[in-house]
Amino acid sequence: MEKNQPIIKIQNLRVIYNQGKSNEVRSLEDVSLNIYPEEYIIIYGPSGCGKSTLLYSIAGLQMPTYGEVTINEKKLSQMNSNDKVILHQVGTGMIFQSFYLIPSLNVIDNVCIPKTFCGIKRKERIEEGMKLLQRFSISEQFKKFPSQLSGGQKQRVAIARALANNPQVILADEPVGNLDSESASNVMRILKDLNDIDKKTIILVTHNPEFLHYADRVIHIKDGRIIKEDVNVEKRPKEVIKKELFVGGETEPPKELEILMRTFKNLSSQQRGSLLIPFKAKQLLHHVLSQITDEQLKSAENLLTEFLFNNFGIEIFKKKLDAGFDKGGANWNKQRAKRFSRRVQAIFEQVAILKKDPEMAPSYLADYLINTFGFKLDESLRMRFESFLRLRINNKTDKANFKKSLDAPVYLRGLGLNKNTAEKIAMEVEVIMLLNYSV
Ligand code: ADP
Ligand code: MG
Repeated sequence: MEKNQPIIKIQNLRVIYNQGKSNEVRSLEDVSLNIYPEEYIIIYGPSGCGKSTLLYSIAGLQMPTYGEVTINEKKLSQMNSNDKVILHQVGTGMIFQSFYLIPSLNVIDNVCIPKTFCGIKRKERIEEGMKLLQRFSISEQFKKFPSQLSGGQKQRVAIARALANNPQVILADEPVGNLDSESASNVMRILKDLNDIDKKTIILVTHNPEFLHYADRVIHIKDGRIIKEDVNVEKRPKEVIKKELFVGGETEPPKELEILMRTFKNLSSQQRGSLLIPFKAKQLLHHVLSQITDEQLKSAENLLTEFLFNNFGIEIFKKKLDAGFDKGGANWNKQRAKRFSRRVQAIFEQVAILKKDPEMAPSYLADYLINTFGFKLDESLRMRFESFLRLRINNKTDKANFKKSLDAPVYLRGLGLNKNTAEKIAMEVEVIMLLNYSV
């Protein structure tokens, strides 16, 4: 497939239910939209505006009344039933608001269903299915039936099922509409990772504005029409944006913008007015705070996520931090990459100690913190420090109180550290506790 080609092309799509009858509904009116590989698209609009109809048209589950949908340069209207079966098996994965798990099958069999029809051996199917369940932290439930799971767990099973054949595109119809807010964030985070890390193209339908920030591009729909498009992150090929934007008049972006775009890769000519302000704020923050661009930071975050998934060890992590964007790296310089990975490694050593030997951890942690933040304690204060650390490790206190005990004067049973150091130590401990936390 050519790089600049949309993965999904929707041209003048119209869907009319019960055409010509008294109960005729015009669900979609002349919708045209191109979606490019690796984009995260949210289709947003009020209930009844035609979002699901649009998604099902992309999935090949709804026939257009007029217009055309093309996937990977194949027109859905020209696909025979065999092509469509292949599309549903390996081209797109779908998840729904009400999960649609099969009640009579257990979790692992639900996940492996799409593989059943692909001629893969059962043992292999189960192994791969279990890997997906592990990734979404539901492998322990593999023998349970859907009725024994919470909503959030059901949706994670449904996501695993949608991924079973490793499709390029994930379609999600109000996937968190039935979930409490915690499970909802969890599922939204998973979908974001599938886009960021696995490079899946995501098309998600929602009527909830709370989730819009997850998307690269938000398509606003009203009464069956696209009324607006917001771009958070531009993933469309540059040449395409130029073409789409400067039709008729100029054929190039203004020189000023073009030069800026060479530095700020996520800047695009779609970002105008109010969309430009958050972008400027972010760049200014990164520049002043870390002297690192948004893109370098984002890539580093992705690498850290992969590292946390154990996809590679610290040495590879360091190399990738330093490698250029074109090599899948974060384009940092060597010195910074070295310093940063050393720091990460040191933190992980503390996490490992905490996991292995919580009894001894306060003592190791005290050494580590004293070294890292360069302060001195006499023997009795050091004992005090360890006892504070023990309280935090055993969840007998929280960050705020832990920090207070660090900067309280010695005669008030504190350590008498200055506020800044106390904050840094307390935050370091919180991060270690977070990294150690798992469910
Ligand atoms: P949304 O997902 O945005 O809530 P839908 O795409 O489900 O909207 O529906 C758009 C419109 O089409 C609504 O007026 C709905 O009642 C109508 N509609 C959807 N499916 C059908 C159908 N199978 N038959 C008739 N009308 C339908
Ligand atoms: Mg709907």
